Amino acid sequence: MSGRSSAGVRSASATLVAVSDISTTGTDAARTVNAVKVYGKGDTAVTALDGISVEFGRGEFTAIMGPSGSGKSTLLHCLAGLDTLTSGEIFIGDTELGSLSEKNLTLLRRERVGFIFQAYNLVPTLNAEDNITLPLAIAGRKADPEAFDDVVDSMKLRERLSHRPAELSGGQQQRVAAARALVSRPEIIFADEPTGNLDSKSGLELLAFMRKAVDEKNQTIVMVTHDPGGASHADRVVFLGDGKVVHEVTEPTTEAVFEVMKSLGN
Ligand code: ADP
Repeated sequence: MSGRSSAGVRSASATLVAVSDISTTGTDAARTVNAVKVYGKGDTAVTALDGISVEFGRGEFTAIMGPSGSGKSTLLHCLAGLDTLTSGEIFIGDTELGSLSEKNLTLLRRERVGFIFQAYNLVPTLNAEDNITLPLAIAGRKADPEAFDDVVDSMKLRERLSHRPAELSGGQQQRVAAARALVSRPEIIFADEPTGNLDSKSGLELLAFMRKAVDEKNQTIVMVTHDPGGASHADRVVFLGDGKVVHEVTEPTTEAVFEVMKSLGN
């Protein structure tokens, strides 16, 4: 799998780059340093993230797991610049999100990050093609024709481009959402339970597409999932508990993930 096999290549090339290039060639696509998130104040305060330091390597597919309420969504949202930390730091490349103005944070979300949500979040009045290119259109950019063709064919959406979301199956809608995230080749894609609404066959197809994007395009993906089978497609699984990283598994199998969940009382 590319994340593991390319590690040596990454570190070798890292020694050759100029300091100014590090934001696009450093080893980590994203990382957190002692990330703390507290919701509310006083007696009702809830610590959702309790000092998390974790790195996500370039070209790696990481799954985040843990029981409900352990902080998975909060971590993903803070990493993606959709929510802010109470203290600590989050980096996308070498950009620290807390140092950005609202405008620059919006630009970072638009230009450098992709999202795949459980609920697809497609625009119902636009056909599949226009949904895929919408973020680029908003940014005033055109899709690179080669990248568009590549993602449409790998997601098997060629015959569906003129269809609106209501005319597509759940699996097809989520593939459109994945294509929308992939087409601009963002530095990192965050996926929040992307298979949560899919039947098992469509879920497996989507996971295989995501795996392919990592293996063939060196895409970085961070995915929250409840499903040990889904997590087994990743290079690494990070387990959260009570807002902390409590365990990690590399080269996960479904059985290994299941065993860890059992031992953690999930
Ligand atoms: P998970 O995704 O693992 O289920 P979350 O990140 O959603 O966990 O939640 C972590 C903790 O933070 C939970 O105790 C949850 O109730 C709390 N929480 C999440 N969002 C909010 C919010 N907007 N306001 C108050 N508490 C929240």
